Amino acid sequence: MIFDIEVNGKTIKARRGEMILEALERNGIAIPTLCHMKGLSPSGACRMCVVEVEGVKELVTSCSQPVEEWMKITTHSPRVVHARKTIVELLLANHPDDCLYCVRNGMCELQDMASEHHIMERRFPGKRLQLKTDPSSSSLTRDPAKCILCGRCIRTCDEVMGITAIDFTHRGNQTIIGTTAGKGLNLSSCITCGQCIMACPTGALHEKEQLSLVQQALHRKDSYVTISYSPTLAVSIGEMLGLKSGKDLSGMLNAALRKAGFRKVFNNVAASDINISLVADLVVQRLKKGIRQPLFSSCCPAWVKMAEQFYPELIPQLAPVKSPQQLMGGLVKSYLVNAPGVRPDQIFHVAAMPCTAKKFEAQREEMTHKGISDVDAVLTTRELVRLIKLYGIHILQLEPEAADDPSAAGGFSSHVTGMSGGVAESVLRDVYFKLTGKEIALNKLGKLRSQKSYKELIVKAGPHEIGVAVVNGSMALRQTITSLKDRKDLLFIEVMACEGGCVAGGGQPLKSDEDDIRNRARALADLDSKATMRAAGKQQLIEPLQQGVNTLHPDTGWDALCKTIFAKRSVI
Ligand code: SF4
Repeated sequence: MIFDIEVNGKTIKARRGEMILEALERNGIAIPTLCHMKGLSPSGACRMCVVEVEGVKELVTSCSQPVEEWMKITTHSPRVVHARKTIVELLLANHPDDCLYCVRNGMCELQDMASEHHIMERRFPGKRLQLKTDPSSSSLTRDPAKCILCGRCIRTCDEVMGITAIDFTHRGNQTIIGTTAGKGLNLSSCITCGQCIMACPTGALHEKEQLSLVQQALHRKDSYVTISYSPTLAVSIGEMLGLKSGKDLSGMLNAALRKAGFRKVFNNVAASDINISLVADLVVQRLKKGIRQPLFSSCCPAWVKMAEQFYPELIPQLAPVKSPQQLMGGLVKSYLVNAPGVRPDQIFHVAAMPCTAKKFEAQREEMTHKGISDVDAVLTTRELVRLIKLYGIHILQLEPEAADDPSAAGGFSSHVTGMSGGVAESVLRDVYFKLTGKEIALNKLGKLRSQKSYKELIVKAGPHEIGVAVVNGSMALRQTITSLKDRKDLLFIEVMACEGGCVAGGGQPLKSDEDDIRNRARALADLDSKATMRAAGKQQLIEPLQQGVNTLHPDTGWDALCKTIFAKRSVI
């Protein structure tokens, strides 16, 4: 039901059940907020969104107070503005004064609030809590000294991801956000997805920085530094360079990365095709053997960690194939860089990804061979843009260049794996091709690309029925897993921890909104529509790569390159 309320002397429309803040924002009235975040339950913790409501003595938090017909609201009275300014001043009272050295300098909501409220001096000299940074996670760094206790990370981890790795601990002015028993994040149930970073308004949470490591490698004379980047990252970096979201910059990125000193630059779509083709092979084998139990995707390391921690009984059902990131790293070190005089241990391979969990994956013990890691450093989208700026490269002025082989060959079909449903769609396309020798009609697959939290599709391929499902986000997994794991009609289930898939990953540009995420997915779909092949298994390069690895480096071999620990537990 819609009714009128009065705001700042004018009438606006409000909807029954919505919060005052929603009604104001919908009517173009901006209210500052810190603890509020779209999609999370309101908490009213920071009180930045206070407004005056006629007849109510105390100021009202607009994010948590439902709107009512009788309300006459004032949003920017002197009392309200003074209250908001005081809140920011109190937050700054025990906040470290190191903005210039902070990873969020220029992108910090607290900094913005201080500026918007004309705070030019420290009015309240507060006592700083002596809190230590938690560097224990391989993906994330927590700096509690910069935490303003807005609780957005807690609610994201709990309400969006369904993980609950962190919560408020201690009491009163000793309150902090921490893990169970105050242990490091590495010992908590954190799945390293990085969605808490996307929610954090300050520098209290950020990715584990690996940019310096890459810089050092680029400057070392005896290092041969290579990089592979995700196509999802290539359609996202433009946003951090002032472009509209969803522009594919892969050609310019190839040129920029060579300028920065990388000796070989690969687009990871090639490795995605290899991953999809190997998974599709497994699905076909299981179908032919009559195994009526779904195989789960294993390319999202946050989902793999979730399975290991919460659903160990599912580990035998995880596809025993390395993720595209790790496949590319292994290929680079064993085969692709076949330069005279360059030993595998001299190659420093960097992966640039939209994901923080990929840092965790790269450091897993089983992702090394004879002490040499497949991937030596993982940069998020944000870190890669920092690197390009650091080297003074004006990427938008560069002429596009092709990536190095095998990515240069083109024709790869797995661009859509960065969006929810894309992995299942790519596997389905390839299974269909492997069973029938034909490409599946794309109009049959649209259902898998929707934004729904759970999707499934069953198509006929000759005498066979291929059933696939998509679990869009770790919360959706919590809700569906019991009914899914023993489904006899599903051959393959894609699980991505981040809702929306990697286009919405925890390493992506900060302050991304739903439009940005949709535009990135649309850009990937565009790349897909231009691909000359629609089945990874049609890609002729996979076989030569396989043979190349086996001949050049028989000690590593294709199997060693592809299989993960899950292989040991595979039911095949
Ligand atoms: Fe990383 Fe993608 Fe998984 Fe998110 S969905 S954790 S971005 S692999």
